[in-house]
Amino acid sequence: MNNRSRVGAAIALVGSLAIAGAGRADENADPKATEQWEPVPAIVTPGSTENAPPSDAIVLFDGRNLDQWVSTKDHAPARWQVAAGVITVDKSAGNIETRQSFRNYQLHLEWRIPQNITGEGQFRGNSGVFLASTGPGDAGYEIQILDSFNNKTYVNGQAAAVYKQSAPLVNSARPPGAWQTFDIIWTAPVFAADGKLTSPAYVTVFHDGVLVQNHFRLSGETTNRGIPQYKPYQEASIKLQAHGDPSPPISFRNIWVRKLAPQ
Ligand code: MG
Repeated sequence: MNNRSRVGAAIALVGSLAIAGAGRADENADPKATEQWEPVPAIVTPGSTENAPPSDAIVLFDGRNLDQWVSTKDHAPARWQVAAGVITVDKSAGNIETRQSFRNYQLHLEWRIPQNITGEGQFRGNSGVFLASTGPGDAGYEIQILDSFNNKTYVNGQAAAVYKQSAPLVNSARPPGAWQTFDIIWTAPVFAADGKLTSPAYVTVFHDGVLVQNHFRLSGETTNRGIPQYKPYQEASIKLQAHGDPSPPISFRNIWVRKLAPQ
């Protein structure tokens, strides 16, 4: 060993000792002391494909009907169109939302901008999924749906944005006519009995399998004007947006949700 390699070996030794020290690895510790055996994770049978609902999912739309959905404005049965296994937005009927309420969950949904889409910016295939509908109209927390394949707009308003709060990390939009997926993990905000926020909302979103929101911390409900603010709620519906832009309406299919226990 020459001098240079001796110095190198010494540096490597010091380095490995430092790493061992940092981890406080204890050669004498019993490995069993750090094994966890309970509680055993529940068995969930995965769907036949990554997009199909697992065995513990609540199916919100399976191609047949809108039984799980009501109109946001009057809670009457939802009046969007269902044909050939697909929901198409009826802009004149307004937003629709789930009958059931949710707190924390994993959500899968698929949406399609029509091939004959028109318009530009926010007026080209605008819709959205509200992760908690906290009131009428667009009240709540919106993940934007829009044709963002080749359509310039403000980046915190393009597809997969947390509307006016967080642009997607990348643009993974497919072209009009193609089905696109959202897989969303929603951690609801927590409020004390007096309504004070004790833990903000967080969201993770995959768009067409690509991570676009990574545990983003929301600063309140999404809003078109002004500063986001939190409003206390416990459980809320999931809402789909009938946006008033004049472009042809978009479609949805294969919507399911898995409730998650608080962490
Ligand atoms: Mg929208």
